[in-house]
Amino acid sequence: MPNERRVARKVTALPTSDGAGVNLKRSIGIPALDHLDPFLLLDNIESDAAEDYIAGFPEHPHRGFETVTYMVEGRMHHRDSMGSEGLLSSGGAQWMTAGRGVIHSEMPEQEEGRLHGFQLWVNLPAVRKMVPARYQDIQPNAIPEIESSYGNVRVIAGEYSGVKGPINGIHVNPLFMDVAVKGGAIPTIFVPAKHTAFIYVFSGEVAVAGHAVNSDTLAILGEGEAINLSGDGRTLVVAGAPIRESIARHGPIVMNTEQELRQAFKDFRSGNFV
Ligand code: MN
Repeated sequence: MPNERRVARKVTALPTSDGAGVNLKRSIGIPALDHLDPFLLLDNIESDAAEDYIAGFPEHPHRGFETVTYMVEGRMHHRDSMGSEGLLSSGGAQWMTAGRGVIHSEMPEQEEGRLHGFQLWVNLPAVRKMVPARYQDIQPNAIPEIESSYGNVRVIAGEYSGVKGPINGIHVNPLFMDVAVKGGAIPTIFVPAKHTAFIYVFSGEVAVAGHAVNSDTLAILGEGEAINLSGDGRTLVVAGAPIRESIARHGPIVMNTEQELRQAFKDFRSGNFV
């Protein structure tokens, strides 16, 4: 019997606002949980009211890490300073390795109705912080979905039941899944024992090894190879290898040292960012 992961700590998502005034719930990157190596931030943007999301995220920079956007419902338009453009729609994902720099905007492509999406920030190690930017834009139908009477599992990154997600070439060897549990227990999710792992429940209630986790709660999991989920709800399941380096962060730039952070803002002001 592989070593089963248990809930080590629960963090309640904190309502806050970012971008040009988007109301969201943040669970990593808050006083209660500054970071969870290699993860730097997790936002849940979820509203039926346009005034909560319509302002969007106008032009802003990123350097030194990766942003992962996963749309549960709704549409977001992405545009950057290099001329890349893309539409993220319900069930789609974008894994953006910002590397040395991206200046982009992320705006809702809808003026009413429900918008629900996540953004996760994943750190890069020092040797990869200044790599050229790279996008992996994944259309909804390119994400495999494993359906059973116990629930549905969508694999964006990593592997479940022998099915691999489309994201590749990411330093932390990530697992990123959207799991709907339907009143029972789903077959075990296997992850490397020492990877950092968490779940973020976004509807209903999902239990890890029998320990119930409520909606809009992030549960950090202890070490082990096996994650056993049960209950009736929907959750993100995320894991990745820790980087174990110093972090110097300010807003959308995450480096190793204060000197690198100052250089990044200097590059941005002088137009030498990307
Ligand atoms: Mn951004």
